Amino acid sequence: MSEIRVKYIDIPLQFSQLRAEIMPKVEEVLASGNYILGPAVAEFEERFAHLCGSKFALGVADGSDALFLALKVFGVGPGDEVITAPNSFLASAWTIVAAGARPVFADVREDFNIDPEQIEKVISPHTKAIMPVHLTGRPADMGPIMDIARRRGLAVVEDAAQAVAARYRGKGVGAIGDIGCFSLHPLKNLNAAGDAGVMTTNNEDYYKLLLKLRNHGLKNRDECEVWGFNSRLDTVQAALLNVKLNHIEAWTNKLREVAGVYRAALASYVKVPTDQEHEYSVYHTFIIQTDRRNELRDHLLARGVETKIHYPIPIHLQECARELGYNRGDFPVTERQSSRILSLPIYPEITDRQVSIVIEEVKKFFGA
Ligand SMILES: *Cc1c(COP(=O)(O)O)cnc(C)c1O
Repeated sequence: MSEIRVKYIDIPLQFSQLRAEIMPKVEEVLASGNYILGPAVAEFEERFAHLCGSKFALGVADGSDALFLALKVFGVGPGDEVITAPNSFLASAWTIVAAGARPVFADVREDFNIDPEQIEKVISPHTKAIMPVHLTGRPADMGPIMDIARRRGLAVVEDAAQAVAARYRGKGVGAIGDIGCFSLHPLKNLNAAGDAGVMTTNNEDYYKLLLKLRNHGLKNRDECEVWGFNSRLDTVQAALLNVKLNHIEAWTNKLREVAGVYRAALASYVKVPTDQEHEYSVYHTFIIQTDRRNELRDHLLARGVETKIHYPIPIHLQECARELGYNRGDFPVTERQSSRILSLPIYPEITDRQVSIVIEEVKKFFGA
């Protein structure tokens, strides 16, 4: 293997660029002794709610906890079903299982997001909620999804783990469904230095319940009305995230710009993601498709370009999902995509030169 010329992502580089902004904020928190849900958390929550256009935001321990706590707000438990996409990251499904309920999958469309028509087909008397995933940072088709949910009396929990700052028909994701769930994992497009997550909602009752659920169920220092959990955002992570929030707009613009360059250069060689007019995608990943995916991945790595596959094994075909009774062939779009997808390097710190290298190497592979 040759020397890596384009890393898939470069977190140390991001830190080195922000070091002077971050370190005083981190030091301030450490000196304060206020390490959990401190003032930086409240600041972050307010700014994050503003970014999404939601009334409330609330920091939690990670994106998976956000999904789990959202399901708890709607009382999801044994005997219930929650509909989600089989091509997502595993947490979309295991949080449903952790709540005691059953994940029911609905296939996706060419845009990698859940197909509202397929949702309609799998709704049963046991269905309690729909969990659309804004995969790759592209908003799911929330218009029809909300119509179905309202008509059928179902809750909508948005898995926006990959989609900070994405918008659908001008509305921020996370502020469209009943509750939005974001991951701030180091590899996500707004990232902490460890696990972190944030939830959004426009509903004050859900917000007030979540304030208790994330903090042992406590109403105040001494009184508890509901059994809760321990899922809080660390002050030091919030301080770091507040620094990064200053950059999220510029970073998102950069990701969209890189996506545009990739799209224009590669569309005649591979299938590239497109943007519809009503979608504002944030390109957490830029996923191309080709029948020769594995060969292309090997070629790129041999030429010093790292790529990833999100995700090679659909959830319904994982060993852990066997008990759900799904088979190969159940979700044809997801399964076909899983053998063809390849995520190209895309991050705010990537240079024009590196983007050109990726493009040239893909073209060379196809003999151009
Ligand atoms: C990352 C991710 C999660 C889980 O978030 P964590 O913060 O890692 O717990 C859930 N859903 C999707 C789609 C993700 O990409």
